[in-house]
This record gives sequence, C-alpha cells and structure tokens, in this order.
Amino acid sequence: MMSKEFPHPVAVIGAGFSGTMSAIQLLSRLEPERRVLLCERAGTFGRGRAYATVNPDHLLNVRATNMSAYPDRPEHFSEWLDTTAFDRAEASGIRVTPGGTFAARGLYGRYLTELLTRAVTGGDGPPRLDLVHDAVTDLEPGPGGFTLRTEGGASYPIAGAVLAMGNLGAPGAPRSRHQADPWSPDSFGRLHPDRPVLIVGTGLTMVDAVAALRRHGFSGPIVALSRRGLLPSAHAPVQPWPMPDLSGATTLSALTTRIRREIDRAAVAGIGWRGVIDALRPVTDTLWRALPAPEKDRFLRHLRPFWDVHRHRAAPPAAEAIADEIARGTLTVRAGRIRAIADTAGEARVTLRPRGAAGDETLAVQCILDATGIGRVVETDDPLIRRLMARGLVRPGPFGLGLDAAPDLRALGPVEAGPLWVVGPLLRGVLWECTAVPDIRNQAAGLAQAAARTLSDPT
Ligand SMILES: Cc1cc2nc3c(=O)[nH]c(=O)nc-3n(C[C@H](O)[C@H](O)[C@H](O)COP(=O)(O)OP(=O)(O)OC[C@H]3O[C@@H](n4cnc5c(N)ncnc54)[C@H](O)[C@@H]3O)c2cc1C
Repeated sequence: MMSKEFPHPVAVIGAGFSGTMSAIQLLSRLEPERRVLLCERAGTFGRGRAYATVNPDHLLNVRATNMSAYPDRPEHFSEWLDTTAFDRAEASGIRVTPGGTFAARGLYGRYLTELLTRAVTGGDGPPRLDLVHDAVTDLEPGPGGFTLRTEGGASYPIAGAVLAMGNLGAPGAPRSRHQADPWSPDSFGRLHPDRPVLIVGTGLTMVDAVAALRRHGFSGPIVALSRRGLLPSAHAPVQPWPMPDLSGATTLSALTTRIRREIDRAAVAGIGWRGVIDALRPVTDTLWRALPAPEKDRFLRHLRPFWDVHRHRAAPPAAEAIADEIARGTLTVRAGRIRAIADTAGEARVTLRPRGAAGDETLAVQCILDATGIGRVVETDDPLIRRLMARGLVRPGPFGLGLDAAPDLRALGPVEAGPLWVVGPLLRGVLWECTAVPDIRNQAAGLAQAAARTLSDPT
C-alpha cells in the first residue's frame, strides 16, 4: 500500500547514458521522499554500450565541448576534462585536433561513473537512488503503478517507469558460426594474420570495429561491406552558419533542394557544408515530424545513408586511421549486399552481389563482425519489449522504429496504465535526433519534469 511518507519509487530500466541521466534528473525533480530504482542487466552501471570500452582509439564522435551531461551546464564535461587528474594511459585518450578536442569514450564512461557515484552516495542529501543489478522482464500494471519483475525473480512495486534500454540490436547479417561481436574483442578468438575479416556495415561502428581488430593484434586484411559503401565523414573546424529558412518546404525533394542551395550559398561565403548541416540540428526534429508519412518512408529508403554520413561524423584521428588503412590496402570498402553465407569448419564463404553488378562473387573470410546498426521494434526479440507490447503498454513507433511516445515522452500503447516514459534511442521514429548525448540530456531533463508533475498529481 502506497503512503505519502513512503511513496513507491520510480524505476529506470537501463543504466547507459539515457537511464543514468534520467535517474539523476529524477532525483533532483521528484519529491524528496520518493526513491529511484536504476535497473541494469549488464555488469557495469553508468556506461552503457558506448562508454564501456577501454580501447583508447574508441573516441567520442562529438566534440568534448558538446558532451556535457547537463543541458543547463554546457561546459560541465570540458571542465571535468580540464580539472581531473589522469594517468598517462587515460591522458593518451584526449586528442586535441584543429577540429576540436575529442576524448576516448572510456574517459567519458569514467565521467558518467563519477556522476552516478555521487548520486548513489546522496551528493548533498540522504541517498535515494537504489541500484538493481538484474534484467527487468516485466511490468505488471496494478493499483498505483506497476509491479516490476526481474529475471532473478525479484519484484518491486513502482509508481512508474522510464524505458531507457538503448538501441535494439539489428537483424544484421545472415547468421554464421564465424560471427563475432564487434564490442567484445574476446569473441574474436585467434585470428590468422593473412586471412580476411569481414565487417558488415561501413558506418561509425565499422570504424570502431577496425580499431578493435587492430588493438586485438590482427594485422591482416579487412573488408567492410554495406549497400552503398559510404563512409562517415570526419569532423573539421566549423564556422557557424545561420539556421536556413526552410518554411514551406514540406516534401523531401523541396527540402533537399533548399539545403543544397544553402550549402552552395555557404560555399560562396567560404563556409563548408558542415556549418549548414550543424545549423539544421535545432530544427531537425521539427522537420522530421512535419514530413508526411510517405516522404518519411522515402527518406528512410533512399536518403538516410547520405544524411547519416554527413550528420554523424568521425573524430579526425579515427577518420585518419581509416583513410590510412584504405591507402595501405589493408581495408577494402565494398558496396553490395550479402546473398548467402555458407560455413565450413575454418571459414565463412560469403556470396555477395556488388552494387550495380549482374552476378555474384564469393568471399572467404575467417570472421564476420556485424556493424549494421539499429533494429526495429517489430523485429526485436528483446523479452521486455515483447512483454510490454503483449500487455498493450507500448506500441511500435512510426515505421517500426523505436516505441511510440507523446511529446512529453510518455509511452503510448493500446492500454492505458500507470505512467511509462521512453528516453534515448528507443524514441527513434517519433524523434529523429534522439541518439546522441546533446539530445538525450535534454530528454532526460524534460522527462524528469514531466514525471514530477504526473506523480505529484496522479489524477
Ligand atoms: C559505439 C557507440 C559510440 C557512440 N558514441 C557517441 C558519442 O561519441 N557521442 C554521442 O553523443 N553519442 C554517441 N553514441 C550514441 C549513444 O546512443 C548515446 O550517446 C548513449 O550512449 C545512448 O545510451 P543509452 O543509455 O540510451 O543506451 P545504451 O548505452 O545501449 O544503454 C542501455 C542499457 O540498458 C540495459 N538494458 C537493456 N534492457 C534491459 C533490461 N530489460 N533490464 C535491465 N537493463 C537493460 C543495457 O544493458 C544497457 O546497459 C554512441 C553510440 C555507440 C553505440
């Protein structure tokens, strides 16, 4: 039974950046009696998939000046970098380039861990954050909220929950017994130095996978394959450009024409395309929401890869490492698609159709790394999402990308139940810009405000 003195806690499911910052923001917004449960199934809290790496060549792909965890303290991370004592290995993860300072993602993980530790120990007040090291498997609606159940068999009465489970795994390449996880170098096993490794995908995850293979000691040939073979562009010094006026451009072709024209105008003024793309950022979500569904569909099918490689840029040292690999012939980037994979004891024989070719080719590789990116809710085998969908508490977002949510980030589903919010990459489809720290920190702050309002007046 809930009481005013001991109201049920709010649970945050997932303790990557999205969950950690949602929990920290909730602690500062909720009434002082209400506790927060932060639930994480992996071994570490606070880092999530992106910031758990210990490879110093895995760099943030956003400048340090834009990586503060707090929307109202934009210098917070840069100041932390300037004032924290680092040992020699950590310091090697801070790369100062003409295009800005880029830190190793492991260092950013340390920053988040320190913020979380302060929150757990109570900072300036009594501790109200409880860490639950378990996978959440179900939220069962009941009076006053939900019963949260975990894989380990525990159950907790909660007043509401925040779904912060990150990107869903992509369906990816066809399965092979020679497949390894690009995030777990231990899974690479012993690699023969002369036989190729295939990376499926040519985006930022591929850039990481190449760095992981080299750090693992593999010096042999790597082939990276995607439908179009596009590589992420690199960060470079950016001069600001005013936000383009795109009013009245409600179709994809009108938007593309206007943005191209703006890039030409900027070039005449001596300003590169990066300034124009960056100027669009504050309105990207508004533009996405305003596009009619068939136009969104066209974007996803045709333009998205081109947008991604311009918008999601690699840190200059990471892009240089890839360019160097290509120049030396140790990395080959191919455009095409996989048609079949046949495993033998020692290798995978990959049948691929190069883009624009009439026939197939076969490539024999010793290992395949899946770097294809994000999956769709409708295809996911994530047990919690499937359970919540079966209960009608959530539904897929537009185009099956992420979960559907209201503008205040409250999850939408066929069944009305206690409050559930969604934060981070799971909002893809509803929001377009939802996967990077500068977007998620705003969501976490806004969501905490909405949760505080809802829970203080549940009627
Ligand atoms: C490799 C990589 C590099 C990136 N680099 C940058 C960058 O430089 N700058 C930037 O701004 N953004 C970057 N991003 C974008 C990234 O999406 C965000 O910055 C942020 O890390 C997303 O965090 P998240 O908490 O939403 O997801 P995640 O980090 O995936 O965390 C989700 C957590 O939820 C847990 N979880 C899932 N289901 C359950 C369950 N049922 N029960 C309990 N726990 C569960 C998972 O174990 C996981 O720890 C990067 C992303 C990746 C993948």
